[in-house]
Amino acid sequence: MELSKRQEFIIEIVKEHGPITGEKIAEQLNLTRATLRPDLAILTMAGYLDARPRVGYFFTGKTGTELLTEKLKKFEVGDFQSVPIVVDENVSVYDTIVNMFLEDVGTIFVNDQDSKLAGVLSRKDLLRASIGNQDLSAVPVHIIMTRMPNIAYCFSDDLLLDAAQTLIDRQIDGMPVVERKEEGVEVIGRLTKTNVTKALVELGRDEHL
Ligand code: ADP
Repeated sequence: MELSKRQEFIIEIVKEHGPITGEKIAEQLNLTRATLRPDLAILTMAGYLDARPRVGYFFTGKTGTELLTEKLKKFEVGDFQSVPIVVDENVSVYDTIVNMFLEDVGTIFVNDQDSKLAGVLSRKDLLRASIGNQDLSAVPVHIIMTRMPNIAYCFSDDLLLDAAQTLIDRQIDGMPVVERKEEGVEVIGRLTKTNVTKALVELGRDEHL
């Protein structure tokens, strides 16, 4: 958040004289309390200042970077996840390639017969399978997929920062967001590098207050 000159000045006054009432701050700036109200509201909401009834405003001591980090640490996977594209394990590699183009995704998840997560297919998995001379409409995806239990997945209430760390550590573009069921896990979403990029942009543009 870009602070105005006046807001920066208010912070300086509160730093030096806090706790200080809104009235007193206004006096120092030769402004009315009403003029100052929006600035004080913004500074309090953004976390620079805190207010106690009958005491006044005081400086929280947090820098812009600290406040940004605090906000980032509150982001959860569920706030940014996308709709997953899931195929059955017996669907052919050919149909899945077509599906990947139609849905415009880079990662497709594979379900077993009980609709539980069984595997993951990336663009390169499908490319690799296409190199040979085999009939792609006769090869089911379960032959070429990366399979459980080697799938990295996450939950809607995981911190976005932790999920992003997993993407980096495992060197993958995306992962399924799942719910735990009796026999395995069920895919309910998709978290990709694009989702993480969107979170970064929202944070930078201050759209996720
Ligand atoms: P690409 O292979 O197209 O570069 P990725 O980097 O996402 O895409 O995938 C690399 C490999 O990791 C592929 O073999 C893929 O099957 C596997 N993979 C992708 N996502 C996951 C995941 N969530 N968990 C485990 N393996 C994955």
